[in-house]
Amino acid sequence: MYQPGYLKLLAAGELDKRIDTLYRILESCELCPRKCRKNRLRGEKGECTAGAELMVSSYHAHFGEEAPLVGRGGGLIIADKFGLTPAGGSGTIFLTNCNLRCIYCQNYEISHLGEGQEVSIDEVAEMMLTLQKRGCHNINLVTPTHYAPQLAKAIRVAAANGLYLPIVWNCGGYENVRVIKLLAGIIDIYMPDIKYGDAGPAEKYSNAPDYFARCQEAVKEMHRQVGDLKIDQRGIAYQGLLIRHLVLPNGLAGTERVLNFIAREISSNSYVNIMGQYRPMGEAYKYQELSRCPTRQELWEAFKMAARLGLTRLDIK
Ligand code: SF4
Repeated sequence: MYQPGYLKLLAAGELDKRIDTLYRILESCELCPRKCRKNRLRGEKGECTAGAELMVSSYHAHFGEEAPLVGRGGGLIIADKFGLTPAGGSGTIFLTNCNLRCIYCQNYEISHLGEGQEVSIDEVAEMMLTLQKRGCHNINLVTPTHYAPQLAKAIRVAAANGLYLPIVWNCGGYENVRVIKLLAGIIDIYMPDIKYGDAGPAEKYSNAPDYFARCQEAVKEMHRQVGDLKIDQRGIAYQGLLIRHLVLPNGLAGTERVLNFIAREISSNSYVNIMGQYRPMGEAYKYQELSRCPTRQELWEAFKMAARLGLTRLDIK
């Protein structure tokens, strides 16, 4: 049976050292490539607008994630001390604020407007244990980058109290590779977006012209740590890399460059979710080229491109 890496790190005394190192980064924050150098521990805030304390907007069993995260128990209802609860699902914890802040964000209220509330480390650990008790297959940290130290500490507290589920790092892909190296063994499943293949749109819509370069470094390191996505006999993922790519209208996501990178520099056995659910949200209305959904033809082109490049593990719902 798979044992998450954080349990081994905890037993070896290594987890506490990693947490200490991550917290030191918060004193002059460079948790992400923006490197704002704010002292987050003193409450100073950088571009992500996150301070010292964790903020969470919601947590629940999620059945809309990729099939290997959700499992097959989604249709079942179990009666437990929480009432009638669907079994299985991905145990999502939605973190407030974001280090990338795309102007078209599909969760704009959470990422830009700060919807959520401050919670302690112990409370987040308790959320993880609650999701485990509800039968979730993993703990899915949504937009975790700007809270890496606090989340590592929450995992430590939860692990000491019986957490054994794989941890999913569900991030926007704009990561500092130094931080990803510190997460080795703590994270079981990396689920980065690769949002852009070109600097122009990355700068215009996310103020991150170096997005693709930083994302490529980070995804290579993630793959080095955990390899391709591994799925057990029940169809549930327990370790590996799962890449998401949101197709934007008018080729703005640089889909060809992104898929080329995955096929040639990561692995043609990569599990890739080419997503077609883009809707003009947030401030997208200000940009005519972003003011529509991608067409069927644009999505079809993306799938054909992936197939041509030999990417066969595509998540097509
Ligand atoms: S995590 Fe936030 S404060 Fe830290 S470098 Fe990134 S944007 Fe700046």
